[in-house]
Amino acid sequence: MTEDIRSADVVVVGAGPAGCTAAEHAALDGIDVLIIERKQEIGVPVACGEFLPSIEEIKKILPRAVEVDSLFDFPSSLTSMRSDAMRIYDPKLRSFKIQFDGFTTDRDRFDKYLASKAREAGARIVTGCTFSSLDGQEVVTSAGRIRTKVVIGADGPLSRVAASLGLPRNKGLCPALTAQTKGDFEPIPEMYFGSMAPGGYAWILPKKGGANVGVGISMRFARGKVGDYFKRFVGDRDLVTSKPTGKYVPMSGPLSRTTAKNGMLVGDSAGHVMAVNGGGVPIAIICGKLAGEVAAAKVLRETSIDTYDKLWRGQVGKPLRTAVRTKALASLCFGSQWRLGAAMGFLGERRMGNIIRCKSVFA
Ligand SMILES: Cc1cc2nc3c(=O)[nH]c(=O)nc-3n(C[C@H](O)[C@H](O)[C@H](O)COP(=O)(O)OP(=O)(O)OC[C@H]3O[C@@H](n4cnc5c(N)ncnc54)[C@H](O)[C@@H]3O)c2cc1C
Repeated sequence: MTEDIRSADVVVVGAGPAGCTAAEHAALDGIDVLIIERKQEIGVPVACGEFLPSIEEIKKILPRAVEVDSLFDFPSSLTSMRSDAMRIYDPKLRSFKIQFDGFTTDRDRFDKYLASKAREAGARIVTGCTFSSLDGQEVVTSAGRIRTKVVIGADGPLSRVAASLGLPRNKGLCPALTAQTKGDFEPIPEMYFGSMAPGGYAWILPKKGGANVGVGISMRFARGKVGDYFKRFVGDRDLVTSKPTGKYVPMSGPLSRTTAKNGMLVGDSAGHVMAVNGGGVPIAIICGKLAGEVAAAKVLRETSIDTYDKLWRGQVGKPLRTAVRTKALASLCFGSQWRLGAAMGFLGERRMGNIIRCKSVFA
């Protein structure tokens, strides 16, 4: 390890959307920030559906989130394909068209862009460096020890930082696989519910010159591996894809505690994912900014890290809780194709739109 990464005011573990945004906003306050990332190349391989809501949709989903316009003001070069509606299929392939503004991106380029913003703000990034544990004020990594004042765990659903800080860890992890396919696809994201993805859904999300195809399942309802469901889904549609990559999605909602004396969790490591659809990037970015600012305040003014927990719950807690309740209700239907189809028919397009936006069903 070179001399300059033996210490940092704040060490951020993970260079995904949560970690890069946290690092950017901590560094903007003038403190010394270091991101460590176990991958050699940021954003690679892509394990994401790569679909993001527009700024207007983010405001509808997360009405209490602040500074959404500036946080999500991405260059247009990061948009792969725009869409203003999505199509949802029930187990009998009956479709429902829901108005929803969004776009697909290339997650590898997207994550690299967020990393470049963190660098511009003054953060340092070391790739190929894996977090192992915490030892007092030192972060133990595959490249040696780093002395620090605050640790931000942005290390994804299976967070090691969470365990090291003595914080709870995600339950309800759902396996998901995704891949790229080539071709011309209508600019309407598609989500398929039923036996092709028990307890979850399968998707075809159009991109420029192709689509992101994937399947996410709940092990509570599945009778096989996610890879088998993926093969069947793409095989039934004669889609030729790149090699699928997989990850877990934390679908049980946010953790009960996300702060410790000298550390905090953000993004997937904190369960910052919408349980109704598995989307986590917007919340990772919103909470990442808060985590970075609170970490900087702790370093500069010795303020309490607990503020972070209150801040993010105030901005995104309610929709995340509503999504968990809706998901629990939906789980009553996942065991029966007939019940699921009947429930989707009863809900119709408007109420399904509410669900996808983390509102209560009858809002
Ligand atoms: C198949 C799939 C499809 C998805 N589709 C969408 C979608 O379309 N839209 C959406 O909004 N969300 C989607 N999500 C969820 C979204 O990908 C996550 O919510 C989002 O990436 C969370 O960002 P993060 O920064 O918290 O974590 P991550 O993006 O997972 O980043 C964590 C980083 O930490 C690094 N890391 C992990 N452990 C260590 C360690 N010990 N030491 C150092 N570094 C470490 C990892 O390499 C990784 O780079 C999807 C998830 C999956 C699995």
